[in-house]
Parts: sequence; structure tokens; C-alpha cells
Amino acid sequence: MAHTPLFRLLTRALQKAQGLNRQHDPDDPPRSRRRWTRRRFVKSDKLTVPFIRTLIELTIRTEYGVEPEESSALQLLFNLPSVEDEDATLLSSDEAFLVEGGNSKIIEGLADALSGQIQTQKRLTRLQSNGSGFRLTFGNGSTVSADYVILAIPFPLLRQVNLQVNLPATLRRCIQEVNLGSNEKLFAGFHNKIWRQENGFAGEAWSDLGFSATWDDTDRQGDRPEGVLTFYLGGDEVAATRTGLIDWQGKRFVSQIDPLIPGIAAASTNRFLRTRWTQDRLIGGGYTTFKPGQYTEFSEFRYIESDDPEESQNVAVGNLVFAGEQFSDEFYGFMNGAAQTGRLAAQVVLNAVLV
Ligand SMILES: Cc1cc2nc3c(=O)[nH]c(=O)nc-3n(C[C@H](O)[C@H](O)[C@H](O)COP(=O)(O)OP(=O)(O)OC[C@H]3O[C@@H](n4cnc5c(N)ncnc54)[C@H](O)[C@@H]3O)c2cc1C
Repeated sequence: MAHTPLFRLLTRALQKAQGLNRQHDPDDPPRSRRRWTRRRFVKSDKLTVPFIRTLIELTIRTEYGVEPEESSALQLLFNLPSVEDEDATLLSSDEAFLVEGGNSKIIEGLADALSGQIQTQKRLTRLQSNGSGFRLTFGNGSTVSADYVILAIPFPLLRQVNLQVNLPATLRRCIQEVNLGSNEKLFAGFHNKIWRQENGFAGEAWSDLGFSATWDDTDRQGDRPEGVLTFYLGGDEVAATRTGLIDWQGKRFVSQIDPLIPGIAAASTNRFLRTRWTQDRLIGGGYTTFKPGQYTEFSEFRYIESDDPEESQNVAVGNLVFAGEQFSDEFYGFMNGAAQTGRLAAQVVLNAVLV
């Protein structure tokens, strides 16, 4: 992508910020927060160009689903653009691969390997200690006894489970107080990729028009003329668009960018779709976000993978083991965190059983 004046200005302002002089490490996985922040420390918060502050605040909305003042300052550090010479990269993610047939193929593949062993439609309502094991009660009244339990339920839903288990007070507070941010996507169809024009964009664009960012879902589909944009909402933008017809919201976003990308309204297919994660009663939000103080206060309840045994950390209380993106130090908020903690939780149980 050719660098716009905005990009160049962003680069210069960030380079001026004292101490922000990091080298890009191609081996560093994108969004690898923990390692990222340890290596690169910013001593100054003096961003004197107002729209750069706006831009950074938009990244807090997209990445953490909250308004900037509701976010831990550490999350700001995790989010800072990477700068190398004249080049600034804002929250880059290669997203190089797609699963043919959709991501659910992965779940279906895993489930097929455990055919007959998975029961669905059973909502956990109570977990009681029973010796070193547990008794689980589900919404349909059924019960199960288990020697080991892995709980992989997001915090807001876990709060609804009656946990009659002796848990450390800090862990109870963590479950009680840490929340999911608010994020939603609105998808818009177009007859062509009209944003690929001079003064348009390729890949993604950021905005203060009521959606934080928009990106081209069809960026790598050069062989197809049609295009799809995702309008990404975070923080208060979600509440502001909770009511109203999806088509009306979609048309509003498209018409707002029409003066910037002439012809985009005419290129719209007027077909729009929208997610409703924040209203889903089994999730009720986007992904984990830490308020000021929470990231450090509850740090002992996050898995850390390390070759150094003193640094590595699991999240288990007796035979009760926790999993889910919210328990990953390095990848909370990401599918990586869900997969990583699931693997590590299984390892905790395996180690205990094999002893
Ligand atoms: C808008 C949005 C955009 C995202 N973008 C990205 C991205 O670009 N990259 C990325 O890596 N990640 C992204 N994520 C985050 C990713 O989807 C999550 O981190 C991941 O799905 C978390 O997995 P999990 O297993 O921890 O929790 P979940 O997927 O929330 O699974 C929890 C499960 O627990 C079940 N459950 C709840 N209560 C109970 C109960 N009482 N009993 C039994 N079961 C219960 C729920 O039904 C659900 O199936 C995004 C999420 C959102 C909302």
C-alpha cells in the first residue's frame, strides 16, 4: 500500500515519542503482547497531533472493545503501532490463511474424532466439590460426577454458575470483575472493489465516523470482481448501533464514506449482515479486556508458557482446571488463547493422571 500523508505523519509523530525506537522483529508473531511489551518500552505519552491520539484510541476500541479510559494502560502499550524507519504498521495481522468451508470445519473435525463422547445442550449451573472431585449440575437437571473438571466458560457466564468450590478470593474477584469488551461486525456487499482507487485504500482504513475500522474481506480475491467490507465496531460504537435495522446502519456507513471514496454508495449491493455477539446469551460480549489495574492484579491467573519453569504458570485449583482465552497471558482475546489454554489445561490433567 502506498503511504498516505496520514501514514507519514503518524510515523514521524511516533518516532518523536521518546524511547519509541523499536526494531521490527520478523520472527515476532503478530499481536504477541507479552514479549512485545517487554522488549519495547515507551517513556512518553505526548502525542501532540490530535488525530494520532484519535487513531490510537480507535485501536483500543477495536482490540479491547472499550472506551480508552476503561482500558488498562498496558493494553495501550500492547497496541502501539510498530515503527521502522519511515514505516508505521497499525495492528497488522497477516490473516494469510482461510479454512475452506469455514472455521467450523476445525470444530467438526475435532468433534468427529471424539464421536459419541461429546454432549451438547447442557448448560452448567452448579459445580460442587466432592472430595478431590466434583459434582456438576446442568440446566436440564442432570448431574455428573468427575475426578477432574476443565472449565472453559467466559467470565460473564461463569459468574452465573454456582461455584461451590474453595477458590482463592483473588480468583473469585477475577471471575467477578473481569469483563468482555463490546465488539461487532457489519458486513457490506459491493459489486466491485471500488475502494481500490486513488485516495481510496487497500486492505484496511480507520475512521471516526461511528465505526473504528473497515477492511476488505476480499483483499486476496483478485480473481473476483465483487467486494465485501467489514465495518468493525468497538466500545460505545456498539451501543450506538444496537437498535435500528441492519440495512439502515449499513447504508449510513457506506454513505458516510461516499465523499471520501466517490461512487462507493452506487457500488453497494445494499446487502448487509451484522453479528450480535454482545446480545448472545451464551457469550454476551466480544473478548476479554482488562480495566486499569486488573491485568497486573490478576496476573497469577493466566497461563504462561516458558522454557523457564520459574516463569511458566498454569491456572488450576486442585483438580479444577481453567481454560479459555481469558486465561492466556500472551493471547487473551484471541482464538490462539482459547486453543493454547485448552492444550495446557489438558496437559495439567494428563500430568496429574499420569503421576
Ligand atoms: C467481534 C469479534 C472479533 C474477533 N476477532 C478475532 C480475530 O480476529 N482473531 C482471533 O484470534 N480472535 C478473534 N476473536 C476472539 C475469539 O473469537 C475468541 O477469543 C475465542 O472464540 C474464545 O474462545 P473460548 O473457547 O475461550 O470462548 P468461547 O468461544 O466464547 O466459548 C465459550 C463456550 O462456553 C459455552 N458456555 C457458556 N456458558 C456455559 C455454561 N454455563 N455451561 C456450558 N457451556 C457454556 C458457550 O456456549 C461457548 O460455546 C473475535 C471475537 C469477536 C466477538
